[in-house]
Amino acid sequence: MIDEFIHEPRIGYFSMEIALRNDIQTYAGGLGILAGDTVRSAADLQLPIVAVSLVSRAGYFRQELDPIEGQVERPAVWEPRERMRQLEAKIAVPIEGRPVWIGAWLYVLEGQLGGREPVLLLDTDLDENGQEDREITHHLYGGDQRYRLKQEIVLGIGGVRMLQALGFEIRHYHLNEGHSAMLGLELLRRFSYRPEDVRPGEPPYDLPRVRELCSFTTHTPVEAGHDRFDYSLVQSVLDTGVDLATLKHLAGDDNLNMTRLALGLSDFVNGVAKRHAEISHKMFPGYQVHAITNGVHPFTWAAESFRKLYNRYLPSWCHEPELLVRADCCIPEGEIWEAHCRCKLDLIEHVQSLTGIRLEADIPLIGFARRMTAYKRPDLLFSDLARLSAIARQRPFQVVLAGKAHPHDGGGKELIRQLLAHSRALAGILRVVYLPDYDMDIARLMVAGVDVWLNTPLRPLEASGTSGMKAAFNGVPSLSVLDGWWIEGCIEGVTGWAVGDTVEADATDAASLYDKLEQVVLPLYDSKDPARWTKVMKGAISKNASYFNSHRMMRRYATEAYIR
Ligand SMILES: *Cc1c(COP(=O)(O)O)cnc(C)c1O
Repeated sequence: MIDEFIHEPRIGYFSMEIALRNDIQTYAGGLGILAGDTVRSAADLQLPIVAVSLVSRAGYFRQELDPIEGQVERPAVWEPRERMRQLEAKIAVPIEGRPVWIGAWLYVLEGQLGGREPVLLLDTDLDENGQEDREITHHLYGGDQRYRLKQEIVLGIGGVRMLQALGFEIRHYHLNEGHSAMLGLELLRRFSYRPEDVRPGEPPYDLPRVRELCSFTTHTPVEAGHDRFDYSLVQSVLDTGVDLATLKHLAGDDNLNMTRLALGLSDFVNGVAKRHAEISHKMFPGYQVHAITNGVHPFTWAAESFRKLYNRYLPSWCHEPELLVRADCCIPEGEIWEAHCRCKLDLIEHVQSLTGIRLEADIPLIGFARRMTAYKRPDLLFSDLARLSAIARQRPFQVVLAGKAHPHDGGGKELIRQLLAHSRALAGILRVVYLPDYDMDIARLMVAGVDVWLNTPLRPLEASGTSGMKAAFNGVPSLSVLDGWWIEGCIEGVTGWAVGDTVEADATDAASLYDKLEQVVLPLYDSKDPARWTKVMKGAISKNASYFNSHRMMRRYATEAYIR
């Protein structure tokens, strides 16, 4: 089963989450979607890769919405057996002094153009393990620090050992976020010198060799996104095989910072957009941080009606999305509008089936969906209800929202309650619908079916953001704060519109958002000349989808990080 994949060297791509398909609950949000798009593009580009993640049998969670309570979390258990095959290989890692056995499931990801890539999902739920250890790979982003540390040991150390046991030859390791940095420790052990070859006072590891083998992508400037573990905890859970002095030198004096560990063990470090690379360099002085800006997978995020258009006018766009640069001249305006109306109707019908609310097809629809957390400011649009109502009375529009909050993010959950309350308060003035359980399928409907994609994060905390790129593949322009990818993607009035400016004047963002809506975006939509609107749609496709795709991203990783 695995033979098909082990005859050639591969990139080992490690990620705590990965979005393979909607009914495989191994992802929580943007990081997992990016990991999935990475492997999907590798498949389309015939770039040999093997992804390693955890099986997360109990998933992240399913979200229900209660008008008063807000987010209600339900288990998202899934059955790996129905979707993939269990491999026979088993390896062990020592955790808390006992061996924890790890097995793996093989999912074969098939690209649009015939490419196939193996994805290994590690699983400790084996008869060999006691109950506690069986649960290590159950809950994505669940549990306490100790649980999280064990998961990261299984992912990093277990992952490297599993690849070896299966016979993979790994030419390069890619750490997607710091969660997998333990893999570097396993490599240090593998590449340690014989004692007689070590000079006094020098560490016994071939650090340059490990670094040469590793690339690391950091994904967020938000503190909570960087795992830290007390050294006392680390020592009680794991014999790293690496002496404490070396470990502290690599991962920080105060505690084991997984981002620092990843930085210390990788030659190539990447931020996910140009601005994010600069911010990361400031957060971690002394490290050169490259900027390969994120992208999204073309086929996955283009809706059916747009795939058909691209197939007709720009065949081979699936392999070479750069061709979309010609969309503005080669695709007739009317057909773009027609494809969009199809997507909008699909979304309207889905909204009705989920909520009973019927949105109107000829009124502009604004979409906002992402993880609900303070820095994303989902409430910015609602910060002045009087002003918002005045705009909506003059130029009617509608809003569709979606997004989960991490179960431990009290602030994020409070935001959901507030958004639901705003929606009630605005009844009769502005229709605001909140869709429950944001996932890949809902994202695909939303990014294609709305007229404008809104994003209002607090600068500079949006490392990249990818949903606006998905929207661009469907000709949906963004209205967004200039942060993350939008600094690179925004050409005012051509690909969408900016809220505020690049300096950190967040206090005026709400006013800027209202002004843009009232004076620019809604009037343009309502103008009696629909070609002016479709021109911006074409701008989003030709200027942004042609560039902000994961094929470009992977070609750059291949030439700048993997082969150096
Ligand atoms: C794309 C996507 C995200 C990430 O969107 P951002 O714009 O990066 O916040 C999160 N969740 C789902 C389900 C997605 O499809």
